[in-house]
Amino acid sequence: TEEHRFDLNKTIENTLKVVWNELKYKVTLHQDLDSTLPEILGNEGQISQVIMNMLVNAAQAMETEGEIFIRTKNLGKDVQFEIQDTGSGMSQEVRDKIFDPFFTTKGVNEGTGLGLSITFGIIEKHHGRIECESEEGKGTLFRVRLPIDSQGD
Ligand code: ADP
Ligand code: MG
Repeated sequence: TEEHRFDLNKTIENTLKVVWNELKYKVTLHQDLDSTLPEILGNEGQISQVIMNMLVNAAQAMETEGEIFIRTKNLGKDVQFEIQDTGSGMSQEVRDKIFDPFFTTKGVNEGTGLGLSITFGIIEKHHGRIECESEEGKGTLFRVRLPIDSQGD
């Protein structure tokens, strides 16, 4: 239905175009996109939403300025992307709750706490996996794996 084949590298580029004007004042961007990435079957609009959520979270985790690394990798039957930042990082206590609906550490006008719970649902629907590594004071890394053929519903 809403599933089609798309190039994740292009999705990342297009998503960056949408949010870059907001982020450019504080963020230095490093991109390492694998040119051998196969197209994946899925809902590109939803995957773009995931990337956008993560980019905004990464920028919001920086007090003044910082760096974001975006990487893609061809894993054969899966594609992988990583979004890493040099922001505040998270305590283990926070990290345990980030995928819970309405969990936020932000003020009322900054966050609803829905971004990562929606993200989790989207990745699940694509039969993918999401991981988070974070260290307080150092930064955070989100890693997402998506099967090329999600055989989704
Ligand atoms: P919101 O951004 O509205 O707070 P999210 O679901 O996007 O909701 O994120 C939930 C919480 O996870 C955030 O409030 C923040 O505490 C934490 N978080 C998410 N991404 C990052 C990040 N890149 N660095 C530090 N903390 C993060
Ligand atoms: Mg968010």
